[in-house]
Amino acid sequence: MNTSLLQERETPFYHYDLSLLQSTLDHLLAAARDLPNCHIHYAVKACATPAVLRTIAQAGLGADCVSGGEVRAAFAQGFPADKIVFAGVGKADWEIRLALEIGISCFNVESLPELENINAIAREMGKTARVAFRINPNVDAHTHAKITTGLNENKFGLAMDDMLPTIRHAWSLSHVEYVGLHFHIGSQITDMLPFVHLAERINTLQDQLEQAGITTASINVGGGLGVDYDHPDAHPIPDFEAYFDVFRRYLCLRPLQSLHFELGRSVVAQCGSLISRVLYVKQGHEKQFVIVDAGMTDLLRPALYGSRHQAVNLSAEGEKAEALYDIVGPICESSDVFLTDYRLPTTHRGDLIAFRTAGAYGEIMASQYNCRRLPGHLIEPADSNALAQ
Ligand SMILES: *Cc1c(COP(=O)(O)O)cnc(C)c1O
Repeated sequence: MNTSLLQERETPFYHYDLSLLQSTLDHLLAAARDLPNCHIHYAVKACATPAVLRTIAQAGLGADCVSGGEVRAAFAQGFPADKIVFAGVGKADWEIRLALEIGISCFNVESLPELENINAIAREMGKTARVAFRINPNVDAHTHAKITTGLNENKFGLAMDDMLPTIRHAWSLSHVEYVGLHFHIGSQITDMLPFVHLAERINTLQDQLEQAGITTASINVGGGLGVDYDHPDAHPIPDFEAYFDVFRRYLCLRPLQSLHFELGRSVVAQCGSLISRVLYVKQGHEKQFVIVDAGMTDLLRPALYGSRHQAVNLSAEGEKAEALYDIVGPICESSDVFLTDYRLPTTHRGDLIAFRTAGAYGEIMASQYNCRRLPGHLIEPADSNALAQ
């Protein structure tokens, strides 16, 4: 990070390091190289900053979208329509129409009424929609309750028992074509065992489908691979090898069947940091507070999930003395706290503080609560020291 260039800019803002993003993509593609018929999609909801999307599209990944706005953004930044998939429990009519107009590769359908609506809209437009069914595999991802999506009581997907009747129903409709099964068990998963369970569950479901005479062209195992929030410098690139190896070893694909992944966080988390400035250092009775100009409106994860982003004082180079601080934002909510009892070099008004590992579910979740302006971003390109918007 070039601190003098960061200094000049009004804070808070996101900084994206495209050379780290590029090497993450290189590692990702190398790790998946020998998986047959493999398609990797980027989950746009993690970060839709245009330069980030363009870099990922240029690497050849597809896009996994969960709204019409994301379909539009992905298409505009260079993802080919035939590499875009569209998931989500509540697709509105205009979103379905937009996706059909663009000609996306597949709708990941999450309920029977949604299937019928897609069929009706496709009929109106004289098109056929390719559909996959999102199945709830009832696999516990052992991650934070708010980001576990694969359990039975979740709002996402169809129950396993409804799989066969729903596929048969799709066959009876004239303007949808059944192409595959879709799964996504949760996010920030760092233990590979839930993915092993997912692969085994998919094998069982595939046996059931075959016994019923149903051919499935594609299997989409979703995303969810976690990153190291505690040691971003030691582990800047997630263990893609271990992740793909699970599916290589445990998933039984049928001949010619394609395998799809939808990775979000693991692609972009480490390349982004939120840069803020210290407004005040306040001496309380029990604690010292570092009050920064970034808040939960800029980075919601600590308030929403209780997550911790490593903080670095970029202005304290050479400072030997340290102290414990609570690092808090200016928003009028008690949950607007980044870190408590956190060790930093002695910190002063005006210092720049970087919150690391903020590329995923960071800028994209920003809001204007308290009438604040959105944080904006600074892009460090992969191929030079120059900065672009
Ligand atoms: C959010 C999401 C993903 C990506 O999850 P990550 O944990 O960021 O990899 C993939 N697929 C679907 C359907 C999602 O909703």
